[in-house]
Amino acid sequence: KILIASLCVAFVAVKWSGPRFNAESLKGARVLVTGASTGIGEQMAYHYARFGAQIVITARREKVLEQVSEKCMSLGAQKALYISADMGTDSDPAKAVDFALEKLGGLDYLVLNHIGPSPFTMWKGDVEHVKWLMKVNFFSYVQMAWKAMDSLEQSKGSLVVVSSLLGKMTSPFVAPYTSTKFALNGFFGALYHELAMKKSNVSLSICTLGLIDTDSAMEKVRLVKIYIFLTYPATDAALKIIITGATRQQELFYPWFTQIANLIKDWFPFVTNYAIQNSYKYNP
Ligand code: NDP
Repeated sequence: KILIASLCVAFVAVKWSGPRFNAESLKGARVLVTGASTGIGEQMAYHYARFGAQIVITARREKVLEQVSEKCMSLGAQKALYISADMGTDSDPAKAVDFALEKLGGLDYLVLNHIGPSPFTMWKGDVEHVKWLMKVNFFSYVQMAWKAMDSLEQSKGSLVVVSSLLGKMTSPFVAPYTSTKFALNGFFGALYHELAMKKSNVSLSICTLGLIDTDSAMEKVRLVKIYIFLTYPATDAALKIIITGATRQQELFYPWFTQIANLIKDWFPFVTNYAIQNSYKYNP
């Protein structure tokens, strides 16, 4: 009991003693946000715009990016540019970073957020899909981070990686997606240590999200019915991610109970397994 009480006190103390966010620090900041045509990425673009940042957004659909960047300008962005890029190709990840470096004269924030579409279903052996999704959701993150690293080093900038609770614990119906998120956590977890050991100027934040009410996530939830699920607003998730990067924190857990869920799965795996396997209305 004493151990659990101490852990709870330590948890609350760490939460309350986090660094304070200064919105002014984002005025004029040079930001590249990926996957910004919809969902959380789009909401991040709008928040950065309200803070007066200089933004480059990227995704595949040019017309939608154009509309998002126009809205960013109306919300107060100093600059809002866009570049269409397909992260499943070899060349586009680097092309997007080069574009941002050239147009903004460097980068203060690289926010890696995009994901390729993936079916919410039992895995039926589509190996090619897993390979492709790894390219979009993982390899392109590695390529872009490396390409931007020198500039972030010079600007004392921040690298922000949007991950998921499914990068820390597994769940049915999402084998390809969860693999890509575990890969991200592994790679960028290692990179976090290396940057610290090199005394690099670059801060690295990994964001663990629960279920967020974006159209794409809600569509999947509707397909395989889940008995109980709590969704959280994309705009709030987006703001928390931005604050995590701006305050140079190592990790974000949003909503807060994703951190508890992560602890429980290690301490009491049978509880987690039972809950996960009985959350879905699945009839073989
Ligand atoms: P969305 O599906 O709403 O948005 C995905 C974005 O990625 C879109 O802008 C899409 O634009 C872009 N994209 C898709 N394929 C490609 C591609 N091949 N190349 C370049 N861009 C591409 O995602 P969410 O907003 O829901 O999720 C954002 C992040 O949050 C992801 O990293 C996700 O894993 C994480 N997350 C989300 C959760 C949720 O419940 N929503 C839960 C946990 C984590 P376009 O089609 O124009 O290319």
